[in-house]
Amino acid sequence: TKGAAMVTAVACRVQAQRKQIDKVLALFQLSREQLIGVRDKMRTELEYGLKKKTHALATVKMLPTFVYGMPDGTEKGKFLALDLGGTNFRVLLVKIRSGRKSVRMYNKIFAIPLEIMQGTGEELFDHIVQCIADFLDYMGLKGAQLPLGFTFSFPCRQTCIDKGTLVGWTKGFKATDCEGEDVVDMLREAIKRRNEFDLDIVAIVNDTVGTMMTCGYEDPNCEIGLIAGEWSSVTPLARFHMTLLRSDGGHCSTARGFSKGTGSNVCYMEEMRNIELVDGDEGQMCINTEWGGFGDNGCIDDICTQYDKEVDEGSLNSGKQRYEKMTSGMYLGEIVRQILIDLTRQGLLFRGQISERLRTKGIFETKFLSQIESDRLALLQVRKILQQLGLDSTCEDSIVVKEVCGAVSRRAAQLCGAGLAAIVEKRREDQGLEHFKVTVGVDGTLYKLHPHFSRILQETVKELAPQCDVTFMLSEDGSGKGAALITAVAKRLQQQEKE
Ligand code: BGC
Ligand code: MG
Repeated sequence: TKGAAMVTAVACRVQAQRKQIDKVLALFQLSREQLIGVRDKMRTELEYGLKKKTHALATVKMLPTFVYGMPDGTEKGKFLALDLGGTNFRVLLVKIRSGRKSVRMYNKIFAIPLEIMQGTGEELFDHIVQCIADFLDYMGLKGAQLPLGFTFSFPCRQTCIDKGTLVGWTKGFKATDCEGEDVVDMLREAIKRRNEFDLDIVAIVNDTVGTMMTCGYEDPNCEIGLIAGEWSSVTPLARFHMTLLRSDGGHCSTARGFSKGTGSNVCYMEEMRNIELVDGDEGQMCINTEWGGFGDNGCIDDICTQYDKEVDEGSLNSGKQRYEKMTSGMYLGEIVRQILIDLTRQGLLFRGQISERLRTKGIFETKFLSQIESDRLALLQVRKILQQLGLDSTCEDSIVVKEVCGAVSRRAAQLCGAGLAAIVEKRREDQGLEHFKVTVGVDGTLYKLHPHFSRILQETVKELAPQCDVTFMLSEDGSGKGAALITAVAKRLQQQEKE
C-alpha cells in the first residue's frame, strides 16, 4: 500500500505538471473570434495607411511602389539585380527573353558580416559595391553598362520607381546614417567613391513586389505577393561561398541554406483612387503594406504573451514589427526558447536546469523547429536534435518541446492567414464582387519547407475569407527575377517616354 500511495503521488504530480504545461500552450491557441478580431483590426490598419489623414500615424505603412502593372511578356534584355534583405547579399545577372518567356539567372552569394550589417551606412554600401565589383569580374562583365534593379527588403518611402528613403531598418540590420536617406543615392555615391564602374540604377524593389511580379509573369491572376517567414542559416562555409545558379523558363532550382530575408510582409495591387498619397484615380498601383508593423500601436496586445514581449525586448528594434515577431522565421525559434526557459524555471523541463545553451540567444533556429515538427521524425530523433543544440533532454522533454514548437508555428500561420484574409476581403469588396478569385505569389522557407505552416495558413484564409478563392503559387527566386522584370518594364517605359 505504501507503493500504491507512491504511485498515486507520482501520477498526481505528472497530472499537475501536465496542467501547467497546457496552461502555457493555451496562450498560443487562438479562438475563431480572436482570429476574426485580428483580421478586422488588420483591415482597419490597411485603411489608415492608405488615407492621407491617418497615414502618418499608421503602423501598417501602405507604401506606394510606383509599380503599375505586371510584365506583359515582351520584356527582354540583360539586367543586373541586387538582393539585400537577409543574412546574405546576392548579385545576379538576369537574362530575359521575350516570346518563350525564358529567364536565365547567374548569381553569386556574399555574406554580410554582422559588423557591416550593424556598422555605418557608408561601410555597408562600400561592401555592397565591392561585391558587385567581384561579381562583374567573375562574370567577365567589367565595364558593362547594364540596367540594374535593387531588391531592398526594408520599408522605403518612394516618390518614383528609382528613389527610396529608408523608413527604418528591420530584422538583423542596424547600419547607422541610413534611416531617412535615399538608399539609391547611397548606392550611387558608393559606386562613385570606388570610381571603377558606372551602373544604371533603374528601380528599387521590395522583395514582396519582386515575388508578385515573378508569379504574375506566369499567372495573370496573381496580384498579391507574400513573404512568409524566411529563416536564416548561414554556416561559416557559406561565407563568401559562390554559387552559380542557372534557371530556364521559371524552373530554377533554389540554392538552399541561405536566407533572402527573415521577415514577414505582403504587397498587393490597389486601386489608384484608394491611394490618397499618390495623385491620380485611374488604374492600379502595387502597395507594399509593411504589415510587419501591425500591432505596434498595441492593437493586438490582447493576444501577445509574455514570451512575445521578451523576444521583442531582446530584439534590435524593440517595440517595432510586433506582428512580424509573431509570424516570421527570424523570431519563432526565439519565442520557443523563451517558453522553454520558463517551463524549465517551473521545473517542467530539463530537470529544472537552465543550461548555458538555453540561455544563448538564437540557438533555436527556425529550421530546427521545422525538423522537430516533422511528423516523420521519431521522438528519438527529436531528442537527437535537442542534443545537437546542447540540450540534454529526456523522452518526455522531447514531447513537450515538440508541442511547444507546434503551438508557436501554428499561431504564426494562423496570424498570417488572418492578415491575408483582410487583404483579399478588401480587394473583393472594393471591386464589388460576390466571389473573388486571386493568386498569391509566395516566397519564404517557412512557407515552403515547414511541415504544417502552409496548410494552416491556407485553412485560415479559407475560414476567414470564405467568398475568396485564393490560390497560392510558390515563387522561385522572386527577389532576383522580379527585380529584373520590374527593371525591364521601367526601362521600356523610360524609352517610350523618350520617343
Ligand atoms: C521588411 C519588409 C520585407 C520583409 C520580408 C520585413 O522586415 O520590413 O520590407 O518585405 O521583411 O523580407
Ligand atoms: Mg490616388
